[in-house]
Amino acid sequence: MFKKILIANRGEIALRIQRACRELGIQSVVVYSEADRDAKYVKLADEAVCIGPAASSQSYLNMPAIISTAEVTDAEAIHPGYGFLSENADFAERVERSGFTFIGPTPECIRMMGDKVSAKQAMIKSGVPCVPGGEGALGDDPREIVRTARAIGYPVIIKAAGGGGGRGMRVVHTEAALIHAVQTTRSEAGAAFGNPSVYMEKFLENPRHIEIQVLADQHRNAVWLGDRDCSMQRRHQKIIEEAPAPGIPRRIIERIGERCATACKKIGYRGAGTFEFLYENGEFFFIEMNTRVQVEHPVTELVTGIDIVQMQIKVAAMEKLPFTQRQIETRGHSIECRINAEDPYKFTPSPGRITTWHPPGGPGVRVDSHAYTNYYVPPNYDSMIGKIIVHGDTRDQALARMRIALSETVIEGISTNIPLHRELMADAKFIEGGTNIHYLEGWMSDRKQR
Ligand code: ADP
Repeated sequence: MFKKILIANRGEIALRIQRACRELGIQSVVVYSEADRDAKYVKLADEAVCIGPAASSQSYLNMPAIISTAEVTDAEAIHPGYGFLSENADFAERVERSGFTFIGPTPECIRMMGDKVSAKQAMIKSGVPCVPGGEGALGDDPREIVRTARAIGYPVIIKAAGGGGGRGMRVVHTEAALIHAVQTTRSEAGAAFGNPSVYMEKFLENPRHIEIQVLADQHRNAVWLGDRDCSMQRRHQKIIEEAPAPGIPRRIIERIGERCATACKKIGYRGAGTFEFLYENGEFFFIEMNTRVQVEHPVTELVTGIDIVQMQIKVAAMEKLPFTQRQIETRGHSIECRINAEDPYKFTPSPGRITTWHPPGGPGVRVDSHAYTNYYVPPNYDSMIGKIIVHGDTRDQALARMRIALSETVIEGISTNIPLHRELMADAKFIEGGTNIHYLEGWMSDRKQR
């Protein structure tokens, strides 16, 4: 096992990784920007090194600074968390070439999955069902593009091969709008992701977002750890996640889970990963794979009892998975609410000093956050300041526990989206379960009119 790991991230996930290291008896080094000097995990760190100013490009995305910090602190491995460099194949390659272990898949796997066109092709080959669409990236010939769209049937969605974070997508309802939409998406994709390649698939009208968590070791073992429902989204950003997905028959989940585990073996995957699907009318359609730990990993941890971050570290250290698929059981139900420093209904960011921080507690309640009273939320990064996660024997119990947890939570000095979560936990349709990816936005526009 490693003696020392460098954590190349910030915020709640830096603290989460630090906790996993502590439990495994591993020393950890955190790197931080000038804006994060006062973060909890920096204060608690075995070692902390400031690597640059607030701007991510000069700190959390600064590869030479991170790798040289690993060198001077004698770290053996680097955990990239999520976001920042976590899905950057060049970074993974540089880490390994510098003699450190990258806690994640191989650079080849990251690269293949980072390009959604090659990811989709790999999935088709591995027997994972994909959204119906054209083969590969779109070419330049407008007649060919029109033919592809006709074959798929409108509405279609044009997506950037290198897209991420819900950006670089455009829905097209009519042939008249098609060519212009392809051109615009292409030029936006070139500017935003440095890759103008786009592809086309069927736009599913009322799907749910269901994903499968996987874990693979370096000894050809791969398992899936159940499913998550992340359909509560605004602008393709998840805000509430739960496990398991309500109302989907177990045998359907098992079938897709098995295919994901098999695909991991076929592509030589290692570490934790997530297969994201759209689910409509009883069918799963792969959209992308995330080759890292996800924000919503705790809901899976609470229903399976498996520590995903510790597993990432163990398999990176060449250990075998300590369980087989048959030994993995899911118990009860878990829900996560992402707490963002933002106006609850206008969604404008609300950085600043937290004057009061009272997190919730009690049976089945977990809070993952780096914030505290007097913590200053810097304006430079993502607005998420933590997560409240609950577990119950049933979904109803989990919902009740989340309502209590949200009612106990007091955060003052900045605005947060807690009022929004409180309303959603009382919403009849959400309580019923099984809402689709458009539900939250529809709910918000109805709310505005009330
Ligand atoms: P990103 O990498 O930017 O997150 P994804 O491919 O995962 O992109 O898609 C993000 C979201 O966009 C999905 O959760 C879904 O809401 C929507 N979406 C993507 N593809 C389709 C599709 N074919 N039909 C309908 N919605 C889609």
